[in-house]
Order: sequence, then structure tokens, then C-alpha cells
Amino acid sequence: MSARVLVVDDILANVKLLEAKLTSEYFEVITALDGPSALEVIEAEMPDIILLDVMMPGMDGFEVCRRIKANPVTEHIPVVMVTALDQASDRVSGIEAGADDFLTKPVNDIALMARVKGLVRLKVMMDELRMREATGETIGIDLAGDGNPDELAGKGELLLVEERRIGAQKITETLSDLYNITIQTTLEGCNKAMDEKDYDLVLVNLSVQGFDGLRLCSHIRSREITRNVPILVIVDDGDTPRLVKALEIGVNDYVQRPIDRNELFARGKTQLRRKRFADRLRNNFHKSIEMAISDPLTGLYNRRYMLSHLETIMRENATTRKTVSYIIVDIDYFKSVNDEHGHDVGDEVLKQFGVRIQNNIRGADLACRYGGEEFVIVMPDTDLSFALMVAERLRLYVADQPFELEIGPKKLNLTISIGVACSETSDETPAELMRRADQALYRAKRDGRNRVVTDAA
Ligand code: GH3
Ligand code: MG
Ligand code: MG
Repeated sequence: MSARVLVVDDILANVKLLEAKLTSEYFEVITALDGPSALEVIEAEMPDIILLDVMMPGMDGFEVCRRIKANPVTEHIPVVMVTALDQASDRVSGIEAGADDFLTKPVNDIALMARVKGLVRLKVMMDELRMREATGETIGIDLAGDGNPDELAGKGELLLVEERRIGAQKITETLSDLYNITIQTTLEGCNKAMDEKDYDLVLVNLSVQGFDGLRLCSHIRSREITRNVPILVIVDDGDTPRLVKALEIGVNDYVQRPIDRNELFARGKTQLRRKRFADRLRNNFHKSIEMAISDPLTGLYNRRYMLSHLETIMRENATTRKTVSYIIVDIDYFKSVNDEHGHDVGDEVLKQFGVRIQNNIRGADLACRYGGEEFVIVMPDTDLSFALMVAERLRLYVADQPFELEIGPKKLNLTISIGVACSETSDETPAELMRRADQALYRAKRDGRNRVVTDAA
């Protein structure tokens, strides 16, 4: 996941320090040394995230943030306020100015990466949603009719895992405007609660005594029904090993004890927004199906929609200089499935194959039945190596696991051939990208099928 980060600070040494840290993690960094020039850079470059110093002469960080959030063109860009240590009042002013998150100077590496990555993930989703809605519009359907998901929905549902009464009370007070809160203090209680209801956020105090909080987090991540639930953890200040473990398991964010209420509120809010956008992406997809832009057999998007969507993405990429990957999949010797077992069996295989594709891609990726037994996956903001990894995983998922059928031969071993291409230059057209993937697929077939091929030099 790459992203462009704008660093704004009036002290050059601070800018250079953050730039070095972010560059070493493969973020692209742009910089500005004062508020007015930051605002210019933002409009011209449209960064994915902004790290904004609070104390600057002339226009301070709060004012810059207010202006970013008041401009409809830039309001969706996440802003992280970089504040001096222990300036609780700065956090309040930051929230009022519309900031999405905070970092404290001197900036700690783990915190920097956790915040930046978390907000970039949110933005990827929001961008995808905006583009899908724009795609809907160009083909004449209104997907955006529900209004802003931020404003629309009521409170979220929070599962709080905290044994200490005082701690639980403080958290409840802080988050009660955002969430309805359920408290659990045992592992069994958590599992049961999550079976009974969909939560928008799980907040786990990692120093619970009764059981291993990390185990709970990892359990949530590994279960099908809870895999996408955001997790926020509370760690003791200085307990870096446990924090690193938690981030590895895939928790979304953390707050340190002693808890700063404003910080907890901001993080709780970011997680809720992200969840809402993810839900909206999903609902938006269901609505799209009703509106007949999907393929009736598999329920995947149809070719017309995919083409239009790919155009939208590539048009935006020309400015943002992001890449998009395009994967085309063709089932090997599919004609013989029909010939040997009948058309109904062929249809059932296509249906199941559609499900396998859906299981193998991320929320922002778009799966399409291109026609017949050919399928396409469009992966926004994805480089070639990641796309190849996904393609290979899908190839194995088919080659290693026979299709189980209710009708006909019951079990059917099949393979697929895959062509992959990634847009490398911002002036490549969708047609050119698709042609490169087609050629790669052709070579995969020619070289013996059941393989993934790309045309990269
Ligand atoms: P290759 O490995 O070269 O891809 O061989 P193939 O047999 O898969 O390719 P070919 O393009 O020759 O045949 C595709 C077959 O897919 C022909 C057609 O009968 C079948 N097909 C296309 N659409 C459908 C469908 O909606 N349902 C069913 N059951 N079959 C379909
Ligand atoms: Mg074919
Ligand atoms: Mg085929």
C-alpha cells in the first residue's frame, strides 16, 4: 500500500525527519514549510494524507485544518495534527478544527506508521466508494442517493473488553456519543456477544487479567464472521512488545494508558467512519445488483459496468499517479465440461467459481464476469507483484480444490489460466491495459494452461 503524504512543519529539521521515516517505509513524501503554501500544494497534488504541525507562525495548523475541511475538494483528505507533548488542549482544538488524528512530538515510529497506515486504508475505501458512485452516475443509476454515510447512520455498536470498573466507566463516558456500549469481561462472554450481534468496533484492554487479550484479537481476526470487525486495543505506556504483537495480528489501532479522552474519542470516531464506509461499499454493491449491472448467473459485476469503472479509475490515476492491476481469468477446457456433463453442470461451476473469486479479493477490488467462462478482477491502487500473488492464490484455490456439485459428476477437477497486467504509465488507456492482459492470458494457454502469466519485462 503506497500513498502520498504531505508533511507540513515550519522547522525544516522536523520535515526532514518525518520525510526520512516515511520514505523508508515506501511512502511518497511531499513537503511544505507554512500554512498558505501547504494549502496550495494540497490543491495541486491531492495527497492521500496530511501530517500537520500545530505551531507555525502566520497561519497555524488549526486554521490550515479548518480550511482543508471547509473546501469540498479537499475535505475528504485525512489530517493528522502533530502536537507538542502533553498539550491536551491542542487535541480539543484539533478535533474542533476537523482533524482526523493526532501524533505527539517527538514522533514515535510505531505510532507514526500505525496512524498513517490506518488512515490510508480508510481513504482507499472512501476513494473507491466515490469512484463507484461516479461510475454508477455515468451509466445512469444513482448509487449515492443515501447521503453522506458519516452523517446518516446513528450510533455504532461497541464491544468493550475491560475488567476494571473505573476504566470501563471512563471509556463509556468518552464514547457514549458515538456508540452503544456492551461490556464483557470473559473470553466466553465476548464470543457469545459476537455471535449474537454485529459490532462496529471491539475495544480490548490488553492488560486484562482473566485471559489473554491478544488471543482474543487473533481469534476475532481468524473467524469468518468477525474477520472485518475493527479492533482498537488499549496498551500500557511503554509495553512496546505487546503493541507490536497486536499490530502484527492485525488490530486496527491502539491507545496508550493512561488514556487521553480526546485521543480515544478521535480514534473511536475514525474506526466508526471506516466501518461505515466499508458497510456502505457493501450495501452499495447490493443495490447495484438490483439495478442490473451485475451478471445474473454469478452475481458478479457485468462487463459494461467493469469497463466504465476501469475508465473512472484510470482517469483519476492520471492525476494521482496510482497504478491499477487488471487480471483476466479463463477456465481451461470449459467446453468439455458442457460436452461431457451438460450445460447445467457448466452453469453450476461458473456460479461456484464466481464465489471463489469473491472470497479471494479485497473489498475495494472489483470482480466481473467478462463473458462466457472469462472473468476479470480490477484491483485499484495495486502493483504488479501483489496482483500476481492474488492471481497465483486463485489459481491454486481452483487447481487444489475440486468443485463439489449437487448434480452430475459430484466432483470436478478444473484449472484456470490467468493473464495479469498493471498500468505502468499514466497515459496508458484501459484498452491498452486490457490488451496486455489478454496477450498474457493467450500465452498462459499456449504454454500449457493452469498458469499465471504477465507481460512485464
Ligand atoms: P480453453 O482452455 O482454451 O479456454 O478452452 P475452453 O473450452 O474453455 O474454451 P472455449 O472458448 O473453446 O469454450 C468456452 C465454452 O464455454 C464454450 C461455451 O459452451 C461455454 N460457455 C460459455 N458461456 C457459458 C454459460 O453461460 N454456461 C455454460 N454452461 N457454458 C458456457
Ligand atoms: Mg474462453
Ligand atoms: Mg476457457
